[in-house]
Amino acid sequence: MSNLRIPGPTPCPPEVLQAMSWQMINHRGPQFAGYLNEVTEGLKTIFQTRNDIFLLSSSGTGGLESAIVNTLSPGDKVLGVSIGVFGDRLASIAKTYGAEVIPLKFEWGKAADASAVAGALKANPGIKAVLVTHNETSTGVTNDLASIAKVVKSAGKLLLVDAVSSMGSINLPVDEWGVDVCVTGSQKGWMVPPGLAMVSVSPEAWKACEEAKMPRFYFDFLKAKKYAEKGQTPWTPCVSVVFGMTVAIKMMLEEGLPNIIKRHERIANMTRHNAIKLGLELFADEKYASNTVTSVHANKGLDGKLLNKIMREEYDVILGGGQQVLEGKIFRIGHLGWVDEKDIDAVFAALKEALPKAGFKGA
Ligand code: PLP
Repeated sequence: MSNLRIPGPTPCPPEVLQAMSWQMINHRGPQFAGYLNEVTEGLKTIFQTRNDIFLLSSSGTGGLESAIVNTLSPGDKVLGVSIGVFGDRLASIAKTYGAEVIPLKFEWGKAADASAVAGALKANPGIKAVLVTHNETSTGVTNDLASIAKVVKSAGKLLLVDAVSSMGSINLPVDEWGVDVCVTGSQKGWMVPPGLAMVSVSPEAWKACEEAKMPRFYFDFLKAKKYAEKGQTPWTPCVSVVFGMTVAIKMMLEEGLPNIIKRHERIANMTRHNAIKLGLELFADEKYASNTVTSVHANKGLDGKLLNKIMREEYDVILGGGQQVLEGKIFRIGHLGWVDEKDIDAVFAALKEALPKAGFKGA
């Protein structure tokens, strides 16, 4: 088996893969209703919320689209906080549906500054919602969402959060922080193949939903709620991914959320420490470095693309590259979901040999 160390899709435990091969069942029958309720309840524990949670058959981006179209109307002003590719994506979904996006961009590799968010909200009192990425996978930076949320909620704005690569791995207490719509995806910390977006919807988001005029059909929260009450989804769901989720959620609840969070922290620290020991330079601001993905500069002679090729072909270790302007400039090591120290040891044993082959002169 390859050592798949991209920040999603992540490796799946054999128990999850086995569940994915269960025979099909009636998605409108009692057995499926049981699974759906079980997964939804488990998700509430991990999201640390009493809000509604819906399972949408789509990748994470569909979940992000659902957050926008269910809470906003064309012409609404939103603050698009962005520290990388996924912050930009969330803003561009809002723009596509006719929102007036006021961008608040920060240098890639750095976190968003809560006081700048406060400043932007003060300067633009008509803003209805703030869009934020909790963990920016493209740069390996985790925003201080607690501080940002405090600013946003004390200003009375809606808070729509992309937690695709953080929820279930990094602490994100939805109710305590007041996140109105929170989105994640099955292929990240959940140890399940791609196919499900999972979203929580707060009472305030429901209020916004009553007035929201953006067009929506497939990702309609009202339809999702009506069907969830019957233990169903409005449309045929990706049944096998839900099977996988039943097993993964059980495993996660057994490990316990605080332990999962600690394991991610420990493994991320180990990854950063080992990278520095090899003479590599970390890309993300140290204070906000992500516990699910580590981004590393491809500098000191290092050809990042060649490194990933050598790692894949000679060591069967699959690393992530840089995205957009970071292509070739960084490489990324994913450490979320089903991961332990041995996986990271194997990455660094391979890196030690592969780095000089890819031109690295920093050791
Ligand atoms: N947001 C973040 C932070 C992500 O990491 C990703 C995927 O990498 C997405 C959104 C998009 O999710 P998907 O590719 O599942 O649509």
